[in-house]
Amino acid sequence: MGASWQEPGPAPPASSEAAATLMRRTGRRDTRPELALRRELHRRGLRYLVDTTPPGTNRRRRADLVFRGARVAVFVDGCFWHSCPLHLHPPRANAQWWRVKLASVVARDRDTDERLAEAGWTVVRVWEHEDVVAAADRVEALVRRPHPVTTAVPTVA
Ligand SMILES: [Zn+2]
Repeated sequence: MGASWQEPGPAPPASSEAAATLMRRTGRRDTRPELALRRELHRRGLRYLVDTTPPGTNRRRRADLVFRGARVAVFVDGCFWHSCPLHLHPPRANAQWWRVKLASVVARDRDTDERLAEAGWTVVRVWEHEDVVAAADRVEALVRRPHPVTTAVPTVA
């Protein structure tokens, strides 16, 4: 001990079954909460791009759902990786490494939010524990709100 890391460094060996399970979830594409939200929004007639960098942003930061016309970017954040205040239980083993790692994820999230807002995007973050209907309500309200027509959005009858 004694080392104080700025960067988490390479992952320590998974020290428990729980940590191993968490680490396997790193690839977070098409998680169940995300699929449920997509299904609900699609059912409501909303159409979106999946796992895409919102146009006009200069960094490669992908959003889970992108509504181009309304300029709304949706992220479905896992409770563990994104440090949900209700369900955050940092692993005890390798606690220091996890603290730095998880803090870096949150810092990156806030940076992504800022960059998207600067580029004129509205960011919606949904926790994986959120009720899917309530989350869809939030997204739908933003996507369907009247927005200034600065760019022509082709309308298909
Ligand atoms: Zn949670």
